[in-house]
Amino acid sequence: MRICDIALRQVGKVPDTHGEPTQVRALVPLSTLQLEDGSPAMETDWGQVLPAPAARMLSCDSVLRRIVTDPLTGMPLDVGKPTRTIPLHVRIAVTAKYRTCQWPGGCDMPVPWCDVHHLMHFADGGLATLDNLTVYCRVHHTHQHIRDQTEHRQHRKAA
Ligand SMILES: [Zn+2]
Ligand SMILES: [Zn+2]
Repeated sequence: MRICDIALRQVGKVPDTHGEPTQVRALVPLSTLQLEDGSPAMETDWGQVLPAPAARMLSCDSVLRRIVTDPLTGMPLDVGKPTRTIPLHVRIAVTAKYRTCQWPGGCDMPVPWCDVHHLMHFADGGLATLDNLTVYCRVHHTHQHIRDQTEHRQHRKAA
């Protein structure tokens, strides 16, 4: 999405929004965001199927809308109001706090090309507060969510 975002800005198709991400719509069950065993994958409105770590990564900094569906038919029964997982003023604060990707091993990707990441994911109860948010470039953000899923599975096996 970051590449699309940059490309679209280059051709003047979308306004420069100071790091605001381009939008892609997707349906993702809450159980998938919570990494429950047997949860279905996320599906974008273009039919692209993405695994749970990708769903958690993309939802880290997104606009959510709760949709209640009929468990038998899948038909929507109720649709909630859109809510940002990171309110805009908090997003501005966290991106002003850092200059580059905060990957512990070091990374010099500038913040305008980074994603905002919840250290404790909101699906696990993490809040959109400055002490629970950081910035990672897309490579390290992806890496972190794959690592999170691995640790989640190991923790569940040990429990
Ligand atoms: Zn994240
Ligand atoms: Zn990085």
